[in-house]
Amino acid sequence: MRLHLAALKPQHRQLSKLFYSMTTPSPPVDSLRDKFTDFTLAEVKKYNHNSHVYKFAFPDSTSIGGGAITHCIMVRAPEDGKVVDDSGKDVARPYTPVSSASTVGYLELIVKTYETGKISPFLASLKVGEKAAFKGPFAKFPYKASELEQGIAIAGGSGITPMYQLIAHALSAKDDTTKWVLVYSNVTEEDILLREEWDALAASNPDRLTVIYSLDKPPAGWTGLTGFISAATITEAAKALPPSAGEKVKFFICGPPGQVAAVAGAKDGGKQGAVGGALASLGYEAGQVFKF
Ligand SMILES: Cc1cc2nc3c(=O)[nH]c(=O)nc-3n(C[C@H](O)[C@H](O)[C@H](O)COP(=O)(O)OP(=O)(O)OC[C@H]3O[C@@H](n4cnc5c(N)ncnc54)[C@H](O)[C@@H]3O)c2cc1C
Repeated sequence: MRLHLAALKPQHRQLSKLFYSMTTPSPPVDSLRDKFTDFTLAEVKKYNHNSHVYKFAFPDSTSIGGGAITHCIMVRAPEDGKVVDDSGKDVARPYTPVSSASTVGYLELIVKTYETGKISPFLASLKVGEKAAFKGPFAKFPYKASELEQGIAIAGGSGITPMYQLIAHALSAKDDTTKWVLVYSNVTEEDILLREEWDALAASNPDRLTVIYSLDKPPAGWTGLTGFISAATITEAAKALPPSAGEKVKFFICGPPGQVAAVAGAKDGGKQGAVGGALASLGYEAGQVFKF
């Protein structure tokens, strides 16, 4: 039976509110914040020859990460072990959790280690029980179900994580009608991240997702694409979708700076920058391109 508070006498209303506050679990609080907060490395798993999955526990095990689709978070070393650049400034880098924003108690990152980088080697040096500092979430593309007819995601290497956050979310909403193509390029087959997850998503959403892998150094018998992503690759990928036009079609790009520049034009610092590269040569315009 549902009680209507307004129908109760004041003293009973108070008692009823107290009863509900004692019996109804409070909604989980977002763990991410607008200042850096230390999270503890709870588990680390080797993913492939240069990438690991890091599981970081929140200080409050009942809280969630939080954050809109799509978002990233900033990661840096904690106060007592700072990683700095040549001018002595703290270095922080953006990452996209591969765990859902509503996962309780922890978040997970897949990070590729650049031996000569700053934050990825710091993460690779951490032992279980040690800490990294997190800030955010920072909103990226504000995704709305069915707003687009088609999304074409072009990712390189570890640039796949924002695409996973976006597309896995979009496909999980059954009334969302947006159709997707993912073109995902890597150097070797071993470098492909989240392959099992992508193949499972494509198999369970055959009408909504097509996944196309491309390799610079394919193994013998490789049936996917080879070489860098070009205007011809994009034209071919777009054929997997029904014809659509204007701002109902959007390209999402994330990858190494050279690839972003060649496919969509370089980003301008934190800003999108002009559309360039292969997408400009195909006639796509600013409203049709989002660079993570
Ligand atoms: C929105 C977003 C989400 C991301 N999500 C992820 C994610 O989930 N997982 C992930 O692995 N990465 C992700 N990244 C990339 C991540 O932010 C870092 O760029 C990456 O981890 C490298 O950081 P680093 O500090 O280790 O290396 P950096 O210090 O940035 O160096 C990277 C490489 O560039 C070289 N380099 C650095 N400076 C120069 C220079 N001046 N000239 C020439 N070469 C140079 C270094 O030697 C090294 O090889 C994301 C990026 C964005 C923008």
